[in-house]
Amino acid sequence: MLAHRISLLSGSGTAAAREAAKAAAVQGREIVDLAAGEVITEPPDSVREGAIAAINAGANRYTESIGLTSLRRAVAEKLSTETGLAWDTDNIVITAGAKQGLLDATLALLDPGDEVIIVRPCWPTFASQILLAGAKPVFVDARPPSYVPEIRAICGAVTPKTVAIIINSPNNPTGAVYDRPTLQAIGDLAIKYDLWILSDECYSNFVFTGDRHQSITMAHPGIRSRAILVNAFSKELAITGWRLGYFAAPPEIVAAAKKLQSLTTSNANVIAQHAILHHLEVGEGSYEREMHQRLAAARKAGLRILSKLEDVAPPRADGSFFFYLDLTPLLAGLPRTSSIRTVDDIARILLEEAGVASVPGTTFGDETGLRLSFGAPPEKIEPALEKVVAALNGLKSR
Ligand code: PLP
Repeated sequence: MLAHRISLLSGSGTAAAREAAKAAAVQGREIVDLAAGEVITEPPDSVREGAIAAINAGANRYTESIGLTSLRRAVAEKLSTETGLAWDTDNIVITAGAKQGLLDATLALLDPGDEVIIVRPCWPTFASQILLAGAKPVFVDARPPSYVPEIRAICGAVTPKTVAIIINSPNNPTGAVYDRPTLQAIGDLAIKYDLWILSDECYSNFVFTGDRHQSITMAHPGIRSRAILVNAFSKELAITGWRLGYFAAPPEIVAAAKKLQSLTTSNANVIAQHAILHHLEVGEGSYEREMHQRLAAARKAGLRILSKLEDVAPPRADGSFFFYLDLTPLLAGLPRTSSIRTVDDIARILLEEAGVASVPGTTFGDETGLRLSFGAPPEKIEPALEKVVAALNGLKSR
């Protein structure tokens, strides 16, 4: 008999979508994977060189549980440059990807029965980690086309048990980028109700409209004592498998993470830590700029193709690297006799008939959305999206 907490976990819907795509590919079908939450490209040379140098130099031992001090210092400098605010080495924790940072924060802040507000559609790990801590996720729905939450709705979800709010801008899956007034209002609300803000900024390098990324701490510096900024090198440097992330937080959270990480993973992988340190020392940002340009071009081409959808409004895709389609009108217009009723049906049809893997919104707590990644290899995205458009436009005449 397993512990009750395991029964609370639903497993990753994104991984399930990718496994279905792999299974179809194994049967000999050509599948384009637009389900992936990562950019398919090579990492920077500096990361590889840093890793090889670390191996050759014999970097084999444990590090400090919250990471090499030199790396924490380099991350503090990076964050200070990006946000225009001063971050100290003592504010930084190096983690095994953003996921560990989020779990550290969750375990440090939540007791059983506590509530955490999450804006939905949302990356499902947020809720699962809260459940693991014995606490309760409380969802606030953000609506299309912007998928930016209404402050009134967040306020309405606050109860005496609310401890924190999780925000994720740029957003997975919706691509929403929260505007400055929204971030300021969320900050005000956190102060008013004495809440923590857990801000997942993993897609900070991927903002395509308006200004560059706005961390909530830039929009509202007054919330720094109650904010935990979670980020990672996973997406930005195309090294999802290396497991290297970080968070910036007040000292009490850093101290809690020190205990938690020393008792769980000991430290993030030492080779990855040295590799990223080397990249931060020599990288100069050109890789990140090129990645941004590539994705901006893919986004532009993709939006042009998706504008041909007949019953679906083109997505905004302001940030992250996802097109998130609201299929509400399409589903409503399907003939009563149609065997296609849900976004899961549509994702299945796209896989089976168009050879394109996507992620249905149900994975993100949304019955009407569909996520398509433009982090796939550029030459594959446009033909795949043409097939998606043809398949979706053809649904009502089936
Ligand atoms: N946060 C968000 C919003 C994500 O979409 C993901 C991965 O898809 C992560 C965190 C996980 O990042 P990492 O691989 O660095 O743990």
